[in-house]
Amino acid sequence: MVLNKNSAEIKPSPSSMGDDIQLIWLQGQGCTGCTVSFLQADFPGVVDLLVGAIPPIKVSIDYHPTIMLVWGDKALELIKKPPERFVLIVEGAIPTKDDGVYCLMGEVEGKPITLLEYVRTLAPKALATIAIGTCASFGGIPRGHPNPTSAKGVMDVLGRDYRSKLNLPVINIPGCPPHPDWITGTLINLILFIKGKAPPPSLDEYNRPSMFFGKTVHESCPRAGYFTEGEFAKSFGEKECLLLLGCKGPDVRGDCPERKWNGRVSACPLAGGVCIGCTDPDFPDAMSPFIYYPPKPIPAFIPPPTLTILLYGYGIKKKLERKPWKRR
Ligand code: SF4
Repeated sequence: MVLNKNSAEIKPSPSSMGDDIQLIWLQGQGCTGCTVSFLQADFPGVVDLLVGAIPPIKVSIDYHPTIMLVWGDKALELIKKPPERFVLIVEGAIPTKDDGVYCLMGEVEGKPITLLEYVRTLAPKALATIAIGTCASFGGIPRGHPNPTSAKGVMDVLGRDYRSKLNLPVINIPGCPPHPDWITGTLINLILFIKGKAPPPSLDEYNRPSMFFGKTVHESCPRAGYFTEGEFAKSFGEKECLLLLGCKGPDVRGDCPERKWNGRVSACPLAGGVCIGCTDPDFPDAMSPFIYYPPKPIPAFIPPPTLTILLYGYGIKKKLERKPWKRR
C-alpha cells in the first residue's frame, strides 16, 4: 500500500526546509534495545547523520533519555517547549492504565508527568511521528498477556486517524529490535521528504516501510529450497528448513535473511534459529511458543511436497484462528 490514497497531495511544509531535523526521542516500556541497534548503524552511522556527512541529511538528537548529556529539569525544559520542526520518535510501549502512571518522565511543578501525556502533547506538533520497535509500534512484549499496565503502541494511543503536521500517519518500524538500516533508512527517506527531495515512505497495511517489510522472511531465506522440496530439520543444527521447529518466516515480513544482522553477518534462520516473528503486529502472543518440535514420527507415506502443503495449510488455518491486531 502506498502511504495513503492522497500521498500525491502531501507536501512538505516550507517552514521545514532548513538545515537539520531535530529528533525528540521518548522511551517507554522497553529494553532500550532499539537505541542500541540504532547506535550500531554503519552505512550511514549515527555520527554521519549528526554531522551531515551525506547532505542534505542532518539531524540533531535534542532529547534522548539514554544518550543525552542533560538531565533532570534541564532535560524536561527541552520538551516542554519543543522546537518548531521536530520528528517525534517513540521507543517502547505506552502504559495507559491509571492514566499512564506506570511510566513517568519526571515532574513539572511537583506534578508527575507521564509518557502517555507527553506523546499526546507532542505528536500533533511533530512533523512526523515514528514508532521504533515492536513495543512502540504494536505494544510488543509489554502488551503480551496479561498486559497488567494496558500497554499500547503509539498508533493505538493516538488513534488510527492521527496525522502529523505533514499529514503523515504514525510510521511503524517494528522489530525486537529493528535492524539499524530500517531505522536510518526510514529516517533518511523521511528527511528527504521533509526537504522536498523524495516522496514520503511507502507504507504497508500496518504502516511499516514497504522497502524493508515488503516481503516475508521466508522469501529471502536460503533454506526456502528445502521448504519447497518438503525437507525439514527435525532438530536444531540440521541444514534443512526450520518450519517444523517453529519458524514463522512464511508468515512474517522483514528482509532479515538478505540484509543480515550484527555487521551484516547473519540472521535468525541463517544462524540456525527459527524466525520468531518479532516484526509481526501480534508478536509475541500469537507467535508463541517460539520453538516447537515436530510430531514423531512423521508419517512416512506422506510424500515431502504434500507434507509441505499440509503444513502450510495448517499454518494458514492457525493464522485465521488468531485475532489479528488490525481487527482488535
Ligand atoms: Fe522459511 Fe523459516 Fe524454512 Fe527459512 S527456515 S525456509 S524462513 S520456514
